[in-house]
Amino acid sequence: MITTDKLSANALDFIDDVKLQMLLQRGAPEPEQVRDVIAKSLSKAPLQLDETAVLLRAENRDLIGEIFEAARKLKRDVYGNRIVLFAPLYIGNYCVNDCAYCSFRRSNKDAVRRTLSPEEVARQVEALEDRGHKRLILVFGEHPKYNAEFIADTVRKVYSVKKGNGEIRRVNINAAPMDHEGFRIIKEAGIGTYQIFMETYHHETYQKVHPENTLKGDYLWRLDALNRAFEAGCDDMGIGALFGLYDWRFEVLGLVAHSLFLQEHYGVGPHTISFPRLQPALGVQLSNQYPVNDYDFKRLVAILRLSVPYTGMILTARERAELREEILGFGVSQIDAGSRIEIGGYTEIGDAQVQAIEKEQFRLGDLRSLDEVMRHLLNAGYLPSFCTSCYRTGRTGEHFMEYAIPGFIQRFCAPNGILTLAEYLHDYASEHTRKAGERLIRKEMEKIEDKGILKLVEERLRKIKREGKRDLYF
Ligand code: SAM
Ligand code: SF4
Repeated sequence: MITTDKLSANALDFIDDVKLQMLLQRGAPEPEQVRDVIAKSLSKAPLQLDETAVLLRAENRDLIGEIFEAARKLKRDVYGNRIVLFAPLYIGNYCVNDCAYCSFRRSNKDAVRRTLSPEEVARQVEALEDRGHKRLILVFGEHPKYNAEFIADTVRKVYSVKKGNGEIRRVNINAAPMDHEGFRIIKEAGIGTYQIFMETYHHETYQKVHPENTLKGDYLWRLDALNRAFEAGCDDMGIGALFGLYDWRFEVLGLVAHSLFLQEHYGVGPHTISFPRLQPALGVQLSNQYPVNDYDFKRLVAILRLSVPYTGMILTARERAELREEILGFGVSQIDAGSRIEIGGYTEIGDAQVQAIEKEQFRLGDLRSLDEVMRHLLNAGYLPSFCTSCYRTGRTGEHFMEYAIPGFIQRFCAPNGILTLAEYLHDYASEHTRKAGERLIRKEMEKIEDKGILKLVEERLRKIKREGKRDLYF
């Protein structure tokens, strides 16, 4: 199996199951306790584990209502009304692991296995660019075929594909953990975020769903992955847990513990947290002992928002459209849209609202096209953004944290959101979406207080519209 000399300098199994369980068993908190924790979080201070546990133990509906309201407020204060959009691109589903919940697992003989060739990657990317996407996350099974060189080559390929005004400006990846050398190789290819989910932080459950004789069966190798990534130069990292494998409260504490560990040892917390909910998948007969209902799902999103005020939160198309729209306000900063998770799906299935379950990892809840999602966001008053400026101007890791302060949004995020939205409206939007977008841009411009910035944004909007200029950012 994995040799320990490949682990990071800070390799440590910092998840203490007994301690986390005890924090969850302390009994219902007094309302004042809950309000004190909310107040701390509204001052934008990250919460400690015992404070998050107070929010998790609150069962009174009114108190939970206060938690929801606070999460909405914090989201508005830190992120404004922006929602960043991206799409997943599945590259290959060969896998040596046997994760009980995933249809890519090696023992699933019904899965149609496939790896996109470089030419096929190019066709998928063109199809995504034709719809208006600028940010992708590449997804891989774990297999010797998908080593760091292969992943790096695929990332370079994606960046190289340009069609019309289309280009991909940020390529994130979700792939199996690597050693330091592997992370160096993918960093050099220009990846944005390296994302990896622990799936479950609960040791016994982890061993149950990840057989011991598989690479993924090694809990510490996975928990340590982001330490190695950071040591190899990737300072933009995403964590996540697959909700439904174990008690959702425990997983929230696991995510917060992970976040605090990275902050303490590397000076940077995760850039994003994901909270996928277990979905039905081909050949998966997992008895769902810990289903998370919609109400608890909303609670966990709100509590995560309050616990890690400056961490982006990703809500995927696993969830139904109506629920996604409701949860957006609770603190989500990024969503995928127009997603196809069949390998080759962007050209072979397109925007048809059907799924080819034998070719994909799990069922999606939201099959709307990017244009439709954009229109809904705009009509609900959100500013959909394709901005990739922070990562391209070096505002990542520690520097991103420094910038994630009030004023930053007004100076950078909102103007960049407006400019990337204007590009989208001009190049890709349907008539209805374009009208909704132009209305929103007018409203957003009225909010810009700094006259200097306002003038610059107006100038750049003119350049986009009249001179056909693209990729103008602050
Ligand atoms: N193979 C790599 C790994 O396991 O880290 C990366 C990609 S895996 C294809 C992406 C994520 O999909 C997993 O980390 C897991 O959380 C999620 N996933 C797997 N099966 C799922 C299911 N049935 N429902 C929802 N999400 C699932
Ligand atoms: Fe393979 Fe990842 Fe699916 Fe596990 S979750 S079977 S590692 S693709």
